[in-house]
Amino acid sequence: MSGSRGDDISVVLIDDDPLVRSLVSQALRGSYTVSSVATGTEGLALLARDPPDLVLLDVDLPDIDGFTVCRKLRAHYTSEELPVLMLTGNQDDSAVEAAFEAGATDFLAKPVSVPLLRQRLRFAFRAAGAFQRVIENERRLARGHELAGIGQFEWHVGPERLVCTPQALRILGSPESPPASLEEFFLNHVHPEDAARARALFSNESLVEAEIRLGAEGDAPTVRIYLEVAARPSGKVFFVTMHDISGSVGDPRHKLAYYDAATGLPNRQLFESRLDAALQSSAAQRYAVLFADIDGFKNVNDTLGHLAGDELLRHAAARLLASLRINDSIGRMALSGSVGRWGGDEFAVLVGPIASARDAEHVAARILQQAAEPVRMGGRDQSFRLSIGIAIYPDHGRTRHELIRKADKAMYEAKRAGGNSARLYEPVMEVQATRRSAIEADLPQALEAGQLWLAYQPRFTLDTLAINGAEALLRWNHPTLAAVRPNEFIGVAERNRSILEIGRWVIEQAAAELSRWRAAGVADLRVSVNVSPIQLRGTDFIRGLTDALVETQIRPQQIELEITESILLEQTREVTDNLRAIRDMGVGLAIDDFGTGYSSLSALLAMPLTAVKLDRSIVLQIEGSAGARSAVQAIVTMCRGIGCTFVAEGIDSEEQVRILRELGCTEGQGFWFSEPVAAHKFLERVRAQPNR
Ligand code: C2E
Ligand code: MG
Ligand code: MG
Repeated sequence: MSGSRGDDISVVLIDDDPLVRSLVSQALRGSYTVSSVATGTEGLALLARDPPDLVLLDVDLPDIDGFTVCRKLRAHYTSEELPVLMLTGNQDDSAVEAAFEAGATDFLAKPVSVPLLRQRLRFAFRAAGAFQRVIENERRLARGHELAGIGQFEWHVGPERLVCTPQALRILGSPESPPASLEEFFLNHVHPEDAARARALFSNESLVEAEIRLGAEGDAPTVRIYLEVAARPSGKVFFVTMHDISGSVGDPRHKLAYYDAATGLPNRQLFESRLDAALQSSAAQRYAVLFADIDGFKNVNDTLGHLAGDELLRHAAARLLASLRINDSIGRMALSGSVGRWGGDEFAVLVGPIASARDAEHVAARILQQAAEPVRMGGRDQSFRLSIGIAIYPDHGRTRHELIRKADKAMYEAKRAGGNSARLYEPVMEVQATRRSAIEADLPQALEAGQLWLAYQPRFTLDTLAINGAEALLRWNHPTLAAVRPNEFIGVAERNRSILEIGRWVIEQAAAELSRWRAAGVADLRVSVNVSPIQLRGTDFIRGLTDALVETQIRPQQIELEITESILLEQTREVTDNLRAIRDMGVGLAIDDFGTGYSSLSALLAMPLTAVKLDRSIVLQIEGSAGARSAVQAIVTMCRGIGCTFVAEGIDSEEQVRILRELGCTEGQGFWFSEPVAAHKFLERVRAQPNR
C-alpha cells in the first residue's frame, strides 16, 4: 500500500452505476486518485494488478455480488492492509451485517453523501495507518532484538504453553523445536549447573533476574533472564526476556563477523547496531554511551610488546564486562549494558535505561575502580588505568554518531586532565576542542610568522629581594585566539616535533637577549630556559646550544637549562650523552617542578645540578601544612649538601617568602614579586634596583 500523502492515495471504486462512479470521482479528486470499474470481475483483475490503498465496493454488482468480491480480497489482505468500504442500500440492515461478515472495514449507505464519504475514508485510513505503524514498530523492534541478542518467550502456567519469538529460538539454538514446556526448557536448554538457579528464578517471584548459561557446552551463550509475572483469568503468565550477554548468538559465522577476535567483545559494527536498536526502540528513555581508552597503552605495546598489549586488552574487556555485571542495579533500577571494542585500545559501553547522568557516572566510577585492581600479566601484578568519556541520550544527542562523538570528546578531556578519570560531556568542550584544533593547525607557522616571543620572569634572592636572573617563558601572540598559554601548545609542539625547532629558537633568543643586556651594561644575570625531553633525546641539541653560545659570546654559566626529573631516569644513550655534554660545557642544569614527579634522590645525585626548582603546588602548601614545611626543609638541606641552589616557584604571598626564608630557601620567583614580562621591561626592573 502506498504512502499517505493526500494526492498519492489510490482508491478503486467498483460500482455499476455510472452516476455514482462520476459523483465519487468528482468528489474525491484532488485528495485521492480514483480508478473505477463497473463489474466485480474487472474490479478483482484491477486489484490483483495494482492494489490500491482502499476499495469502495458496491453490494449489488451485475456479475459477482459485492460480498463475494470482498471475501476474495480478504483472502489476500487484512482489513488493516486494505480497507474495504461497502456501499449498501439505504436502511438495509442485513446487507450491513453481511458486509461485515464478508470482511468489510466499514459501510456507507446509498445515496452517497459526499461529506460522509470523505469522513469515512479518513477514518478508514486512520485506522489502517495506525496499524501500519504498529507493524512497522514491531518489525523494527524485532530487528533491534536480533542485533542486541534479545529473545522473549511467554510461559502460560495453566494450561501450560510456551510461546517463543524467533529470536528466542535462535538464542536457544533450536530454531526448529521450541521447548513445549518450562520443564523441557530447563532440561534441554539450561546448563546443568545453572538449572537450579533457573528453577529458583521461576519459583521464587522475588528473584526477578538471573544470569544463566545455556546448553551443556562451555561455549554456549550466557543469558541474563528478566522475569515479569502477570495474572490472567486462565492462570499466571511469565514474560521472560533473555539477553545474550556472552555475545554468541549461536551462529559461528555471526561470531566472526560481529565479534572482535582479540577480546571476544562485539566489534564496532555490532556495537553500533546495538546502540541504534536501543535508541530506536525506546525513544522516551535515557541511555549513556561511555567511551573508554586505556591510559598509556602505547607504552605497554612499545615496551612489553604486542602480545602483552593484547593481553591487556583482554583484561580490560573482562573488567569492563565485570563492572556492568557486578551489581546489576544502581539504586533500585535494573541496569543493562553492552560493551564493544571500538578499535585500538578504545572500548564503547552502552548503559541504560538510566534515570540520570549521575547513574552513568556511577558506572564509570565502578569501571575505574575495577580497572585499578591489579591483574596478573606476564608473571607480574599490574594495574591499568582508563580515561572515560560519557554522553547521554537524548540530552547530548539523538543519533549514534553524535553520542559517540561527544563521548569521545569527553574522553579526550579526561585524558588531557591526566587520565584515570571519567568526564561527562559538556558543550564547553566543543569550544575547547575548536581552540585546540586551531592551535594544532596554526602552531607550525607561528615561529616563522614571528608570533612567538619570550617573556622573562625575574628570579630573586629572598633575603635582599635583588633580581639575580630570569626564567624565559614562551609566549604566543596568536592572531585570533586570546592568550595561548605554553601548557596549551608545548604538548602539541612535542607531538608534531616542532618543539625541536622552537626549542632551538628559544635558546638562541635567550642567548641573544643576554648579549643585549651585556651591551646595556648588565652582565651578571642568568637566564633559565625550559627544555623538553624531546630535545634532549635528539642528537642535534648540543650543536644548537654551542652555536648559540658561540654566536653571542655569552658565558655558558649564564644559561641554565630546566629539565624534568623524569629525563634523569632515562638511561638512553642520547640522553646521557647530552646531559654529560651540557655539564662539560659548564651550562647550568636545573630540575623543574620538583615535588611533582618521581623525586628519586639517586637520580638527583647522579647529575651535578645547579638548581632545584620547587613546584608551585608544594609552595602553596607550606602555609597550612607542617608536613610540607619539613619536606621543604629536608630538600633545602639536601641541596646545600650537593651544592645546588634551591628555588621556590610560584610564590604569591609575603607570608610564603617569610616561611621559605625560615626554612633556609634562598631564591624564588612568583607573581608576588613579578609576573613574566617582556625583555625590555625586565631590563628596566633590573636597572631600577637600588644597588645598581
Ligand atoms: P614552568 O617551567 O614551571 O614555568 C612556571 C610557570 O608558572 C609559568 O607559566 C609561569 O608564568 C607560572 N608562574 C610563575 N609564577 C607564578 C605564580 O606566582 N602563580 C601562578 N599561578 N603561576 C606562576 P607559563 O609561562 O604558562 O608556562 C607553563 C609551562 O610551560 C612552564 O612551566 C614550562 O614547563 C612550559 N614552558 C614555558 N616556556 C617553555 C619553553 O620555552 N620550552 C618548553 N619546553 N617549555 C616551556
Ligand atoms: Mg620552568
Ligand atoms: Mg616549574
